[in-house]
Amino acid sequence: MATQAARNEFNVYESAEARFETAAKKLGLEEGLYRYMKYPNKEITVYIPVTLDSGHLEVFIGYRVHHSIVRGPCKGGIRFAPDVTLDEVRALASWMTWKCAVVNIPFGGAKGGVICDPSKLSQGEVERITRRYTAELSEWIGPERDVPAPDIGTNEQTMAWVMDTYSMHVRHTTTAVVTGKPIDLGGSAGRREATGRGLMLVCDRAIAKLGLKRENTRVIVQGFGNVGSMAAMLMHRAGYKIVGIADIHGGLYNEAGFDIPKAIDWVYTQKKPLPEFPAGGTKLTAREILFQPAEIVVPAATENQITTENAHRLQARILCEGANGPTTAPADEIVDRKGIFVIPDILANAGGVTVSYFEWVQDRQGFFWRESEVNARLQDVMEHSFDEVLQYAEAHGVNNRIAAYMVAINRVAFALKLRGIYA
Ligand code: NAD
Repeated sequence: MATQAARNEFNVYESAEARFETAAKKLGLEEGLYRYMKYPNKEITVYIPVTLDSGHLEVFIGYRVHHSIVRGPCKGGIRFAPDVTLDEVRALASWMTWKCAVVNIPFGGAKGGVICDPSKLSQGEVERITRRYTAELSEWIGPERDVPAPDIGTNEQTMAWVMDTYSMHVRHTTTAVVTGKPIDLGGSAGRREATGRGLMLVCDRAIAKLGLKRENTRVIVQGFGNVGSMAAMLMHRAGYKIVGIADIHGGLYNEAGFDIPKAIDWVYTQKKPLPEFPAGGTKLTAREILFQPAEIVVPAATENQITTENAHRLQARILCEGANGPTTAPADEIVDRKGIFVIPDILANAGGVTVSYFEWVQDRQGFFWRESEVNARLQDVMEHSFDEVLQYAEAHGVNNRIAAYMVAINRVAFALKLRGIYA
């Protein structure tokens, strides 16, 4: 086992492993179970030949990692980004196992990624990458095997192509092979907002615990994609004051708060740069936004944003992790020392996978729920899971992150013992 000192702070796989190790030790997990759960079940690398619009033939590299099938089919997003690495996909796959277990939904964990930059590709090129990637994986995905979903750089349209390609291979329409699909193709009402809604629900719980009220709670959201923009919008609507927003182009901070529907219109309808949003305030870098005054900071962009170099500058009382792995493992200690109430990624952003689970259930039932029903069930899952993690933290004298891992590892270990090891 690598020691903390020997670790590379920015390797997300090592960060994931560090938390797993700490939680496993606290649980007194036996060595065999520890080893079984530490390693992925399967890692697949695919080489994806695609003819670009220019006529040039390019080969893209894609991965799919199955971390665990102990509690059910694998579940996890597909990321299209230029900096995708196998280590990153591995880390994200293991986080999916723990995330599904924290909220107690019957899935294991997986993740996929393709090294490409969708912003530099045409729609047709992205479609061809998606279809060939799916075709290469068609034996390994499926409603009972592995159910992908969107992540950075992929969206409802990408999922529609995955669903169509898979369906062509198995020769019948199989909506339950992916989640995060358009509603007209078996998607779930409420899925688009689900991760953001889940973030708001756990923030509601956290502010109640700290004796704060929504109206005097300032929120900073880093990342203005699916997760960040939806969290900002729902929290704004619920009465929180969103004082900081940022995307990859930069951030804006304004104590007076932003009109989030207008900011969404600016970025998504008018297609203008977020830092130019004409609402006053101070322009900052996307990273700097995290360290401005607010009660809640929601990093909802990407990994490794809060590090040993900058964690001491956080001013928030609550750190609610919308992104996966926004805080490096060595930075945890600094955040803890500052007494910040952390809602760890595997709990905070689990609203997305929870409604993905509802989507999979609805597809398999062929019976679709109203949005109010989806939201009510999501609320029940998020609040119950939040309370369980907090109780675990108090009972075992650990921080919220380690408590969430302990709850999750315990559930997977229990299921694994029941199943036994297939010879
Ligand atoms: P997205 O591609 O829709 O949006 C990403 C946003 O982050 C964009 O606004 C982008 O400009 C911004 N961004 C990227 N790099 C940045 C940087 N270095 N600094 C500041 N902003 C930056 O992606 P998403 O689906 O919203 O996912 C965001 C994070 O949430 C990822 O870590 C993802 O794994 C995680 N997550 C997503 C879901 C989901 O349902 N989409 C669920 C759980 C977790």
